[in-house]
Amino acid sequence: MSERWPPGISDALSLPCSICGKRTNIDYKASDESWKYITSNKGHGNRLGVICLECFIELLLRHDRCPENCIESIYVIGRSATTVFKIDYLAHWPKEKT
Ligand SMILES: [Zn+2]
Repeated sequence: MSERWPPGISDALSLPCSICGKRTNIDYKASDESWKYITSNKGHGNRLGVICLECFIELLLRHDRCPENCIESIYVIGRSATTVFKIDYLAHWPKEKT
């Protein structure tokens, strides 16, 4: 069993999301391709800031990307341990009619 500190966690613990402003104890590892796309000018264009999981999923869906294929792991950071999850599937909420 690996006891390595998962990558990227320090950002989630110390910095708020650059989009919604929330601090979260949930971090994630995105595929390099999806992160580069979302942080490029074609995507959100935010190269330096933290993007929380909720906002990242919204951006992926807005750009017709499948979150199940773009997010490799989800980390829930606890006081004594971090639990690592893999996405099985994403249950989409029905779109509200406007
Ligand atoms: Zn956010």
